[in-house]
Amino acid sequence: MDKMIKLSLPKCTGREREYIDQALAEDWIVPLGPHVDELERRLGAALDAPNVVALSSGTAALHLGLLMLGVKPGDEVVCQSMTFAASAFPITYLGAQPVFVDSEARTWNMDPQTLDTAIRERVRQTGRKPRAVVAVDLYGMPASWDELREVARRHGIPMLEDAAEALGSRYGDEACGRFGRYGTLSFNGNKIVTTSGGGALICPDAKSAERVKFFATQAREDRPYYYHEFVGYNYRMSNISAAIGCAQIEDLTARVTRRRQIHDLYHQGLADIEGMEVHTDPNGRFRSNYWLTTVLLPMGLGCKSPEQVRAKLLERRIETRLLWRPMHIQPIFDDAPYYACYGGDVSATLFGRGLCLPSGCGLTDDEVGRVIAEVRKIYGK
Ligand SMILES: *Cc1c(COP(=O)(O)O)cnc(C)c1O
Repeated sequence: MDKMIKLSLPKCTGREREYIDQALAEDWIVPLGPHVDELERRLGAALDAPNVVALSSGTAALHLGLLMLGVKPGDEVVCQSMTFAASAFPITYLGAQPVFVDSEARTWNMDPQTLDTAIRERVRQTGRKPRAVVAVDLYGMPASWDELREVARRHGIPMLEDAAEALGSRYGDEACGRFGRYGTLSFNGNKIVTTSGGGALICPDAKSAERVKFFATQAREDRPYYYHEFVGYNYRMSNISAAIGCAQIEDLTARVTRRRQIHDLYHQGLADIEGMEVHTDPNGRFRSNYWLTTVLLPMGLGCKSPEQVRAKLLERRIETRLLWRPMHIQPIFDDAPYYACYGGDVSATLFGRGLCLPSGCGLTDDEVGRVIAEVRKIYGK
């Protein structure tokens, strides 16, 4: 029987064990330590952003990022609808209300024009500006940051960049994770770099990074006894997790190169299927890490739905996944306002047509070839 091809498996570099052994030998088995410091340094170097705080998850990073932006109960926070729910959940942890905004067709990320409309409309209806904007670099594809930042700047609203899927992606001359006042990363098991579970918050300066560490360690005031003026959280990364991350980050460049090669193989291998679109950098300003290669399937009479194609490929022992189901069509967010693009609901349309293909760094060319061959068979090629 053919080997199961998974969507995005983690891949070890070989040095994880060495760093974990170091941490164990020095008894650094607590949620701080030299490997946490080292991981923060390495991330800072990779992103050219010196103030990175390693945390227990990407979701924790989003939570503290929103806290730092001053989000309070009763506030509204604008969020990209087409994303993983973890972009939006932390808004509710703070007692705030999400307001969802549609995506543009070229990046699948927040549409700048619709963001502008949504902000105006919220001000008109509530008399108050939303407190913050959460935009995402989905599947590693950078958002249209020039345009988004211009809209947010004009309205005087800070942005948080959810770059959980975009470590190693670039837009213009800068690394993703740096485009909002705060940026978040995830090192969950399926991401391009993993710590077996973890995340990071990219902060604008050393002072705010210190403040984030304070909130992430139970908001303990600097006194000889436990003394609290604020509600705190237990969100720091464990030193053992960070040891894994230190190894993983060493070959970030190779990881991105491999994911981009896999994307190119799919692009070439599927190009002649009519109506098939492989999601690709719209122009030279965008450089996705292609965390996952995603496609829009041919649509029309007799064409298979994404779910049918997924089931068909699974029979052939290939794991694929539908796109993130947008937040505005999730039951839990039924009551949240949603602003679709003028001319149609882009994110709902993408969801109805899209599929994520196996993209792990560890896939061989032959395995990618097997996926391509099976997809081609479905379309009679
Ligand atoms: C993975 C992910 C997160 C959450 O990160 P965790 O580390 O799993 O908490 C947030 N946003 C997006 C877009 C993600 O893909």
